[in-house]
Amino acid sequence: MTERTAGGGRESMDACRGCRAPDPELFLPLGEHPLANGFLEEARLDEPEPTFPLNAHVCLECGLIQIPDNVPAGFFEDYVYVPSASETMQRHFDELAASVVDRLMDGGDGLVVDIGCNDGLFLEAVDRRGAATLGVDPASNIVERAREKGIEVVEAYFGPETAARIVREHGPARVVVTTNTYHHVGDLDPFTQGVARLLADDGVFVIEVPRALDLVREHQFDGIYHEHVSQFSLLSVSEHVERFGMRVVDAEALPVHGGSMRVIVAPVDAPLSPAPAVDDWLEAEREAGLLEAATYDRFRRSVRERRDELLELIGGLRERGRRLAGYGASARGNTLLNYYGIGPDTLAWIADRNELKQGLYTPGAHVPVVEPERLVADRPDDVLLLAWNFADEILEQQRPYLEAGGRFLQPIPEVQILDGEEAADG
Ligand code: ZN
Repeated sequence: MTERTAGGGRESMDACRGCRAPDPELFLPLGEHPLANGFLEEARLDEPEPTFPLNAHVCLECGLIQIPDNVPAGFFEDYVYVPSASETMQRHFDELAASVVDRLMDGGDGLVVDIGCNDGLFLEAVDRRGAATLGVDPASNIVERAREKGIEVVEAYFGPETAARIVREHGPARVVVTTNTYHHVGDLDPFTQGVARLLADDGVFVIEVPRALDLVREHQFDGIYHEHVSQFSLLSVSEHVERFGMRVVDAEALPVHGGSMRVIVAPVDAPLSPAPAVDDWLEAEREAGLLEAATYDRFRRSVRERRDELLELIGGLRERGRRLAGYGASARGNTLLNYYGIGPDTLAWIADRNELKQGLYTPGAHVPVVEPERLVADRPDDVLLLAWNFADEILEQQRPYLEAGGRFLQPIPEVQILDGEEAADG
């Protein structure tokens, strides 16, 4: 039986989303949270804000870290995350496009389908290399942005019916790509079944997702929010795709989003044989304890220790009269603020380069989001680096603030103070 709270959210899970083994274990209850991307206009600050329980579970059969999928689909339709805003992501997608067209397609004959194509950044890079492209995305405001760039997009949630329609209208796909999307999918079976249907016999499925190994090693609890219903390891991807007649043939670590992986999957009958890296990874994940309950007990303790350490540091700074602000109005930052209980009495504002977020307030904590120029104009004494996964890029862009004596406080993986000298070293 599933339990239901007053808010309608499930506290527990009946079965693993990936391998269907029963009763994944609850290891980190984070409490009630609003949607991490639910930024608010000032006029709505007094209205009740819907919250949902955020409870991290793990399946010890396949290693999939997951939360119950409690959020009605319509809640995500005005999605604010637009990756083009980040230089790191622009370079990343250009490299991925080169890898897909040159390596996986031998130069570009065939169709590349990007599921969860967002504003079309990746498909634009594929298009420049001469391959045929098609995007799939359910977020209507984002689909408009992709279409403005001339990218053809199917506006839909992906599943077997959408796959069948694409095959009818465009033929099977040589490459199906899904970046930063697979871990958003609550009902994973129809999605993967759709991919199996969409792929050509010699096709490949490329998945990019944050990597559970990094999350666990670096205490990245802030990567857990309602949109991220799953945190995959190679073990859990492998178990899952095998249920749909596919297998993992290669895997590679990526530095984006605090540590991600690119996994190449192919139909079991395809001529590709798995690279040696695949077995090495699976072994490393077992050795890291991803299938052991004790690993997740340690994770919970580490998360609470870092929370206490940061709150003590911030408390001391405030006592000394130092003025604090934040940088990076990211979804992960909102998980951290709401779990730690940090609000506008502590952070005067949070700066972010994404113009869509400027002028809005963060969900739950209600901290105003402002333009990055405020760092130099207002010169807060310390800035909590909420988008710590983009630390190098942000420190480089904010050199004038650091040179004027400003400091960044990094909350994760370890609590540390970054000043101008450390930034110059790094
Ligand atoms: Zn499982």
